[in-house]
Amino acid sequence: MPQPLPLKANKTERCAIVVGAGPAGLMAATVLARAGVRVEVYDHMTRAGRKFLLAGRGGLNLTREEPPAHFARHYYEQTPFFSDLLQRFSPADLRRFLTELEVTTFVGSSGRVFPEKATAAEILDRWLSHLEGLGAHFHFSHRLQNIGPNGDFVFDAQGPRHLVRADTAVLALGGASWPQTGSDGHWISFFERHGISCTPFAPANCGIEITWSAHFRDRFNGTPLKNSLFTGPDGTTASGDAVICTYGLEGGGIYPLTRSLRQPLATKGSAILLVDLKRDMEKRQIAQKIMVPRSDRSWSEHLRKTLRLSGPHYSLLRECCPAEVFTDPLRLAGAVKNLKLTVTGLRPLTEAISSSGGVSFAEVDEMLMLSKLPGVFVAGEMLDWEAPTGGYLLQGAFSTGWLAGQGALRRLRRE
Ligand SMILES: Cc1cc2nc3c(=O)[nH]c(=O)nc-3n(C[C@H](O)[C@H](O)[C@H](O)COP(=O)(O)OP(=O)(O)OC[C@H]3O[C@@H](n4cnc5c(N)ncnc54)[C@H](O)[C@@H]3O)c2cc1C
Repeated sequence: MPQPLPLKANKTERCAIVVGAGPAGLMAATVLARAGVRVEVYDHMTRAGRKFLLAGRGGLNLTREEPPAHFARHYYEQTPFFSDLLQRFSPADLRRFLTELEVTTFVGSSGRVFPEKATAAEILDRWLSHLEGLGAHFHFSHRLQNIGPNGDFVFDAQGPRHLVRADTAVLALGGASWPQTGSDGHWISFFERHGISCTPFAPANCGIEITWSAHFRDRFNGTPLKNSLFTGPDGTTASGDAVICTYGLEGGGIYPLTRSLRQPLATKGSAILLVDLKRDMEKRQIAQKIMVPRSDRSWSEHLRKTLRLSGPHYSLLRECCPAEVFTDPLRLAGAVKNLKLTVTGLRPLTEAISSSGGVSFAEVDEMLMLSKLPGVFVAGEMLDWEAPTGGYLLQGAFSTGWLAGQGALRRLRRE
């Protein structure tokens, strides 16, 4: 067995390792490096922040400007934890930190915060330079394989395994969606060998599967369903566009409902999603408009004229309602307000924006240290929390990274 590589350079210098160079790991490294700790950052990919860079491709929504209590509610069961954490490292703290990297941000529609000019790649470059300036070292192509019985970190670096010993460690290994970015969730197997309880990963913020007729699928594949309101089985609502695709629906109007759909899909194999195709009108009003004599107009023309119902909305009604609904204005108005779609599944984890599951909160203390591996802290999406996309995920990663970094720092100082 190879001997551990001690990281202690001299008697006074304390050292920490951070494994996982995504937003959570880099934030933990920043806290430690700014406090003068020697930090060695490891990642098994050839460069840092692959998922962060991917997030940048679709408009990097870094966080949100929202009252703290409202913000914390988006973390579901973990609301109390995030309620406390967001007071300690808040969206405003994140924006301040970004300003220190000379990244200015702006608040867009519905409180979403974006970088003003900088791309994700530019933010990452500035952040890595800042860390290197503080003396942090990066070791890419290093895969953490295990934590040995003496607390040694076992890495596989495209060659013989080697061991690293550190005074403390922050692991920020990510969840299990988009494995090609490096967050493949394989770490769960060695965590379980240590008896650390982890909830199995499941897709979150992902597309849904609906069996369309061949005609509907071929005609509307790629078409957005605009201005609709979607309601999941537990009453969770989401607005925004959803795009019709061959397998079902994708997009921001659907992603917040994956959590609501997950349970009924697991137990019953299907779940009902309600769609309000005419958000700005009451059912009674809709019925009155439908009752206006149709004369020789087709139903599609009639609904377009009276309700301003778009082509895809009308075709969705036709796709999901039996023909007799079109003979009863009240039933038709009900369908326009509450169209039932039968969802048969969620898209696979590999395509999801994020994952639910990970290290159970029962395994960590208030600073995110693992009780079964004292001195080892965990942060980011590898912890068992989930949130809708659109700023909540990245803020969750940054804030937990900050907390784990503070925890590791406190431990070093106490020792
Ligand atoms: C397409 C897409 C768009 C997104 N858009 C947004 C958005 O606009 N807003 C938002 O809030 N969120 C968004 N997200 C989510 C956000 O990117 C993640 O929540 C965030 O990156 C999680 O950060 P993390 O540090 O916890 O994990 P990650 O960013 O996944 O980083 C984990 C790191 O650990 C490394 N690693 C894993 N296992 C090992 C190992 N065994 N040894 C060594 N290294 C290892 C990985 O290589 C990786 O670098 C998006 C995600 C995707 C996929």
